[in-house]
Amino acid sequence: MASRHEKDKGVNVQVLLRCRPFNNDELRSNVPQAVTCRDLQHEVAVTQHIAGKQTDRIFVFDKVFGPQSQQKDLYDQAIVPIVNEVLEGFNCTIFAYGQTGTGKTYTMEGAGRNSRNGELPPEAGVIPRAIKQIFDTLELQHADYSVKVTFLELYNEETTDLLAADEISKVVDEKKKSLSLMEDGKGGVIVRGLAEVIVTNSSEIFNLLDRGSSKRRTAETLLNKQSSRSHSIFSITIHIKENTPEGEELIKCGKLNLVDLAGSENICRSGAKEGRAREAGEINKSLLTLGRVITSLVEHLGHVPYRDSKLTRLLRDSLGGRTKTCIIATISPSIHCLEETLSTLDYAQRAK
Ligand code: ADP
Ligand code: MG
Repeated sequence: MASRHEKDKGVNVQVLLRCRPFNNDELRSNVPQAVTCRDLQHEVAVTQHIAGKQTDRIFVFDKVFGPQSQQKDLYDQAIVPIVNEVLEGFNCTIFAYGQTGTGKTYTMEGAGRNSRNGELPPEAGVIPRAIKQIFDTLELQHADYSVKVTFLELYNEETTDLLAADEISKVVDEKKKSLSLMEDGKGGVIVRGLAEVIVTNSSEIFNLLDRGSSKRRTAETLLNKQSSRSHSIFSITIHIKENTPEGEELIKCGKLNLVDLAGSENICRSGAKEGRAREAGEINKSLLTLGRVITSLVEHLGHVPYRDSKLTRLLRDSLGGRTKTCIIATISPSIHCLEETLSTLDYAQRAK
């Protein structure tokens, strides 16, 4: 443990592990549990039976959130400091990585849509909580600010705007409409024509999330997409006007990217055919490149292969340097997911 933390010094990549609870079906059929979370020790034990012998493999993370953990626990313990960095004018990225059905979207967006008296529902995920923290802080500071969001989907290395106000019929033409990327000359990338929506208070967030998910669903049905194969990136950009003691005006700009990655099971499925094979290859490309980029950053390798996938090109100005990166690896407790769970734990561990 000690050496781990020493290694972490100055490294701005944090890896969290979250295990979802058993769902009702699993409880009814008494599915055996393969994973034990020891939140306080920051470790996860995976029980395997090999050749009749029981062995435990232990994985250590920066933080572990077991099945009992609530949305608020994860947010307060791990995300609040990251959003504070963004409010200070830095760029940060939070990823959800894991097998389909393990809680990536639940963690990022959450469930429950109605906010009452400005309070979020207990099941609200990282995105609405981040928006709320941002507005609560800025309003308290009486700052002069603006908050803009974008929401895009990356499928097969093609980008789709999830907030653009176009009709469903146009979604069918989406192949032609895939937005192109352009270098901005400052190390970042601009997505041509991507809708930027100005948000004026935290309760608007649920409309935006609903707009994004309904567009995602429509495109899925019309184009035979599988949501488990797409990445989504929700970005919040804040501009804050400040006056220095010398009376000069200063604009602070911070960006937070919240990324719901494609299901990690796609990473090792190579038996797929034709179109599916290409898809699997492209998903591999983004997930594998992301892994390599993070390894290069953590190990301070000179060359960081941002350019090798669209996902890493898009996030380039928010990965590495003075930015903070957080990976939330999500797993299922079930013995039936054991193999995928081990591959998620290995991937997440490598990011350290
Ligand atoms: P993914 O996005 O990884 O495919 P989802 O977020 O859709 O997975 O989660 C699958 C199901 O499990 C959903 O019904 C979700 O509400 C539920 N779920 C996931 N994580 C949790 C959790 N920590 N607590 C309660 N329910 C959860
Ligand atoms: Mg999902």
